[in-house]
Amino acid sequence: MTIFWHRRDLRAFDNAGLYEALKAGGPVQPVFIFDKEILDKLEDENDARVTFIHQSVSELNEVYREEGSAIRVYYGKPKELWPQIIEEFGATAIYTNRDYEPYAQDRDLVIKKLIESKGGSWHDFKDHVIFEGHEIEKNSGGPYTVFTPYMRKWREKLSPSNSPDGGGQLVSPPRGDGRGDIPPALAPYPCEDHYKNLNQVSAPKPIPTLKDMGFTKSDIEFPPTSVARGLIRTYDETRNYPAQEGTSRLGVHFRHGTISIRQKALAALDLNDTYVNELIWRDFYSNILQNFPHVVDAPFRPEYAGIPWTDDEAHFEAWKAGKTGVPIVDAGMRELVATGYMHNRVRMITASYLTKHLLINWQWGEAWFARHLLDFELASNNGGWQWAAGCGTDAQPYFRIFNADSQQKKFDPKYEYVKRWVPEYGTSEYPEPVVEHKFGRERAIATYKEALAKAKGGG
Ligand code: FAD
Repeated sequence: MTIFWHRRDLRAFDNAGLYEALKAGGPVQPVFIFDKEILDKLEDENDARVTFIHQSVSELNEVYREEGSAIRVYYGKPKELWPQIIEEFGATAIYTNRDYEPYAQDRDLVIKKLIESKGGSWHDFKDHVIFEGHEIEKNSGGPYTVFTPYMRKWREKLSPSNSPDGGGQLVSPPRGDGRGDIPPALAPYPCEDHYKNLNQVSAPKPIPTLKDMGFTKSDIEFPPTSVARGLIRTYDETRNYPAQEGTSRLGVHFRHGTISIRQKALAALDLNDTYVNELIWRDFYSNILQNFPHVVDAPFRPEYAGIPWTDDEAHFEAWKAGKTGVPIVDAGMRELVATGYMHNRVRMITASYLTKHLLINWQWGEAWFARHLLDFELASNNGGWQWAAGCGTDAQPYFRIFNADSQQKKFDPKYEYVKRWVPEYGTSEYPEPVVEHKFGRERAIATYKEALAKAKGGG
């Protein structure tokens, strides 16, 4: 029996690893593990991501049930569960899609060794990104650390025939109906052609409930998996205005693989270049995490490690609660906790306010976003925070500091977004800024400058 292990790919269509498992013959038994190593660290019992995953796994199971199969779902620690899974199904092969986070890489290595020690085989595939870290490299070798040249190389790699030198190597032969107009890296994996190879299950085991795992259902609403083409077509014009429905809200689906990145990228190619660029940012930050895993715990640029943060708990609490007295910051922070979402423009403004005006460690902010964002993705969240703090790869220089007032005037001029989330704005109840712009800006520049000079001088 072959096991297909679902992780960040909660779908049974256009799924690289599932397709390869089914194509190799059968029977293929799909498996999902609610990972206690991860769940035990979550602080909120109504964590919306757990509800989302539970719902998505249940929907995925319905697809399998229609084919006479069923997903087998476990709750526990993967390293402890796998010996039992291998035994239960007499597994001789494990197929899965690659996960690039350091925890997942270590875990997968252990499971790979386990199945191999029993004479079986391990097969992993690229599915979560369009191009992996090693696929887009500088001409001189090594990974890119700046977005624009990375983006150009990415585009060349996607459509070699459009590149200035007229071509290169195709990365994989076209699959599916062989439509010649699809870039090879976006060609679909037609799993449904091989569903006959799914393991037939007559008496499926129940999926553990949220309650079994110590969670309750969140009432946060999840965005749909499809987006109007018109929205993507005008994305470059609407994406910066937080009061508008101007972005796709697909982040949570990309994160958990409830949609296919290849399908969405292919559709976007004909609709909006700026949107394609955002998908390239996603690959870029994954590429950074894959090539520079130290970013998980430290700044990409080591000289930023010595910034003397204020560690001001009261300011941090005000920021988290949306009570800083800076309207667009407060609106964003409240949107985050209420909906699990924050608009990208506002993520940049709130992150900048925390790391520059409040001089609070970006890692505190990163952790708060990680706790609340539905679309939380280690690579992009870390990349976004390091960008805001100035210590990342292609980061905002430390002396360029957002003025929340000008951002407000430019991107929410009628205060529509602010009024939606901060009803007391404009009344006597609304506080003065905890740190005022001019003071905060000057303090940040002086502090960063001194710390960087010290790091340079080795002192
Ligand atoms: P759209 O604007 O519709 O973009 C489409 C997709 O492109 C997104 O869903 C996402 O997958 C990708 N994308 C867009 N912008 C970026 C970007 N700057 N970097 C990487 N991918 C991008 N994105 C996450 O997916 N997870 C995170 O945890 C995350 N944390 C962030 C933290 C900070 C401080 C900042 C500044 C940005 C962060 N982002 C994160 C990037 C971006 O804000 C979100 O991807 C975007 O707001 C999600 O909304 P959307 O799906 O409507 O995006």
